[in-house]
Amino acid sequence: MKIYAQYVWLNGRVVRWEDAKIHVMIHALHYGTSIFEGLRGYWNGENLLIFRLDEHLERMFKSAKILGVKVPYTRQEVRNAIIEAVRANHFREDVYIRPILFVSTPTVTLDIRDLDTSLAIIAFPFGKYLPPGGIRATVVSWRRVHNTMLPVMAKIGGIYVNSVLALAEARNRGYDEALLADINGYIVEGSGENVFVVRNGALYTPPIHQSILEGITRDTVITLSRDLGIKVEEKPITREEVYTADELFLVGTAAEVTPVVEVDGRAIGDGKPGPITTKIATLYADVVRGRIEKYSRWVTLVY
Ligand code: PMP
Repeated sequence: MKIYAQYVWLNGRVVRWEDAKIHVMIHALHYGTSIFEGLRGYWNGENLLIFRLDEHLERMFKSAKILGVKVPYTRQEVRNAIIEAVRANHFREDVYIRPILFVSTPTVTLDIRDLDTSLAIIAFPFGKYLPPGGIRATVVSWRRVHNTMLPVMAKIGGIYVNSVLALAEARNRGYDEALLADINGYIVEGSGENVFVVRNGALYTPPIHQSILEGITRDTVITLSRDLGIKVEEKPITREEVYTADELFLVGTAAEVTPVVEVDGRAIGDGKPGPITTKIATLYADVVRGRIEKYSRWVTLVY
């Protein structure tokens, strides 16, 4: 077993990595009934900074409400537990943090109303998620699920099969990442990212609607861009607009701000990360490391 970290936080205790085990019969393993979050912690040479911890907590509790499961801890307790999961490992490098709440009763019933939930928080060293310097993406045949079928606003484990299939299709075709269209054919997301198009100096991103996760990085990028004086408009994005964009980039906690330089064999702009993308990516990198006072409200110190 690959060991990512020494310790894991599980149901109120810090346990050794090897001891963070669950049973094969638990509900979440069979039916995808888990709620998770993905956060990053950035080492700035002196301290470890968790980015937008409270916003991730808020989304986690909303996801639990949507799925209809109780979180057996208060928001403050989960907040403390996330910090404890990082502290226990004494990390002095960039980390990814994965809180996961899962229906943990061993049963085959589909009625989850009275089942138990467990909470685990796993933190481990983490670098780049997508190749830096610009990626190649493809519009895949799988459509992003619609909220009349599954609640896309929630980070529910089972919903991620949609992303897994989309990314497998992209990788099998030799691309780095998938772009997913919604049921109406508008381009809505990457497999784990929100999407932005640059056209004539302005940013466009699909509105939070029926097939989009309300990404925290999306919100960060909208705020930073407007503060930089860049116009941002939320509007549906067509496939043609993606192909003919001046610049295109994906954003997410894992992906950060990742330029897309090719889609389906078509160069985006001149096939290199564009100036606006680079400007936003650079500012984002400074903000997450707490280098810019104006946005210090977004970082939480671990040590
Ligand atoms: N869309 C999907 C499907 C995702 O999995 C993610 C990653 N959580 C995002 C968008 C980006 O969200 P965030 O910026 O909050 O990480």
